[in-house]
Amino acid sequence: EPRLQAISQAIRVVPHFPKQGIMFQDITTLLLDHKAFKHAVDIFVHRYRDMDISVVAGVEARGFIFGSSIALGIDAKFVPLCKPGKLPGEVISEKYVLEYGTDCLELHVGAVQSSERVIIIDDLVATGGTLSAAIRLLELAGAEVVECACVIGLSDLKVRSKLNGKPLYILLEPR
Ligand code: IMP
Repeated sequence: EPRLQAISQAIRVVPHFPKQGIMFQDITTLLLDHKAFKHAVDIFVHRYRDMDISVVAGVEARGFIFGSSIALGIDAKFVPLCKPGKLPGEVISEKYVLEYGTDCLELHVGAVQSSERVIIIDDLVATGGTLSAAIRLLELAGAEVVECACVIGLSDLKVRSKLNGKPLYILLEPR
């Protein structure tokens, strides 16, 4: 698929960022290439436009970029899932485990109504820890998580293609 090739070519790989040994997938260069960026958004919009999705939830921070564009394309609302202390209103939170320590995602109370159909968007999935926390958080709010979607999937997640029993949709798997 030529669009996937254009998207893949627009993503820059930065060795040893943020620390030694990590090959960082940098989507900021994809955003500089508006055609490739639009291809990525279009593929997601085409997939989700007729699935009766009323909420697109994006994971801070790069999930906001793709998520808000997709939300506009499918006539859904956009809901940010934020790192602790960023949302000013009343929140519900869900902790998750990182390689070193823990982190947390927060959601504004009232942003999602119970039994709304939601997709969760981030730029990249590695262990799946972040998306798993996002799924738990939205389910805590009573939402129905239909699918999680990322531009990039590492570590053979496409083979698994499931996360907490939820479908996982990925555009690219760098080798
Ligand atoms: P996971 O929780 O292990 O699946 O890690 C996914 C989270 O880490 C996402 O929110 C990503 O934005 C971030 N992340 C991990 N590695 C990279 C990378 O190489 N590029 C961009 N984001 C990354």
